[in-house]
Amino acid sequence: MSYIPPKNLLAGRVILITGAGDGIGRVVALACARYGATVILSGRTTAKLESVYDEICNEINELHNSGSGVTPAPTPIIAPMDLARITEADAEQLARTIDTQYGRLDGLLHNAALLGERVPFEHASIAQWQQVMQVNLNAPLLLSHALLPLLQRADDGRLLFTSSGVGSKPRAYWGAYSVSKYALEGLARLLADELDKTSKLRVNIINPGATRTAMRAAAYPAEDPQSLKPPEALLPLYLYLLGPDSQQEHGRVFTEHSVLPG
Ligand code: NDP
Repeated sequence: MSYIPPKNLLAGRVILITGAGDGIGRVVALACARYGATVILSGRTTAKLESVYDEICNEINELHNSGSGVTPAPTPIIAPMDLARITEADAEQLARTIDTQYGRLDGLLHNAALLGERVPFEHASIAQWQQVMQVNLNAPLLLSHALLPLLQRADDGRLLFTSSGVGSKPRAYWGAYSVSKYALEGLARLLADELDKTSKLRVNIINPGATRTAMRAAAYPAEDPQSLKPPEALLPLYLYLLGPDSQQEHGRVFTEHSVLPG
């Protein structure tokens, strides 16, 4: 991962990130603003989104006062949304709001996810299974469907889905999480195929790999978090895939080991 993004990489772009309040989403949201994007911070816990919002605004103010000549990003906005309850109407309302406020959407990162329980299938709670499918699969589907017209209007749009090592090949006891990511990869590949020749929108999948976050700690409680890479280590990959340098990438799965342009 040798990619070094230019300072103004995302200037002028409007990017929506789900699960922007914590973990990988939080770090990617901060970086997108640092590289010039207007970030739409979506997530379940408003207090966490407000904290990311404040961090971005502080950085914008510091840049304003620094006289460095670097143009600060526009102020972000917060779009609280519980993906366990999102409806088609909610997703369409969000699309209308973004269209009214910005008239554009250049990037959508489906990052939020729920781990759920990891038990033998026969012991799985159907209610929990359905909730994980709702958050990890149905919600990205609804949002993609509602936001696709806006994304397709962008000159250089990006649609990114977040998968997992247990998404490319389902793994025993990983239940709905594994199945939801497998299906999500299917949705991403379907869209990539449909849009291949007919759209400027580029669709890709990211598998971030073992990363030091709350979800990873819940999945592997005996693991030393310090033995894992922090989310910041993934930034070259996310910035590459959200920015103009990935114009040629479409329908691919990227990991922390993917070779990026130097
Ligand atoms: P975290 O648990 O740290 O963060 C997940 C984010 O998703 C949180 O901001 C959380 O909000 C949000 N979220 C969960 N449920 C909902 C919901 N119902 N509505 C809205 N937002 C919700 O996870 P990571 O940062 O580790 O994971 C980010 C992505 O990377 C996920 O898609 C995950 O599957 C994937 N991934 C992560 C790996 C890792 O090792 N960390 C490995 C492989 C894939 P809140 O904070 O409010 O709960």
